Amino acid sequence: PNNDKPPTYLFKIIIVGDETVGKTSFLRRFTDDTFSPQYSATIGVDFAVKVVETAKNEVVKLQVWDTAGQERFRSMTSSYYRGGHGVVLMFDVTKRPSFLHLSNWLTQIQSFSNDDTTIVLVGNKADEDEGREVGTDEALKFAHENDLQYFEASAKDDVNIVNAMEALCTANIERVQRLR
Ligand code: GDP
Ligand code: MG
Repeated sequence: PNNDKPPTYLFKIIIVGDETVGKTSFLRRFTDDTFSPQYSATIGVDFAVKVVETAKNEVVKLQVWDTAGQERFRSMTSSYYRGGHGVVLMFDVTKRPSFLHLSNWLTQIQSFSNDDTTIVLVGNKADEDEGREVGTDEALKFAHENDLQYFEASAKDDVNIVNAMEALCTANIERVQRLR
């Protein structure tokens, strides 16, 4: 349906967060609506493109970048962030360390990207009721303290994937319009 209009915006979005939090699964769910329970560490940096139409009928072409096997913090380079308009910062609600590492990720995002880059926090694997190690309240508190929008998501069950991406688009469109 949105192939008939040329995109008004082109945004580069990058996904970051610890290994195995579900970044690749999030991207696959968003772009091809598929999910695989098998883990395969991807090699190199990869991206996928998807065109979305916002509630205000603006057509946005998203280029979404996935880190692959370079999640170890120190191996991330500024080139991955270059030209980015938005960041999906992801942790796994069943792995507390991935939540505790968020402030390190934020520091890196802030040092490598523009001041006004929009960041959305995603707590993935919300389908896993058992083995949950991070509560919604504390995730919301962290999001609030750092001025981030928070989405509790499941790439497996397709929960809040589109909402998180739409929130990034909307925030970016507002920013672009303010700059005009
Ligand atoms: P990445 O290293 O951050 O790219 O993580 P992957 O996307 O490769 O996912 C790591 C593992 O977590 C894989 O076995 C996925 O199937 C699984 N996984 C990803 N997203 C979800 C989710 O929403 N729920 C559950 N239960 N498992 C997930
Ligand atoms: Mg991956």
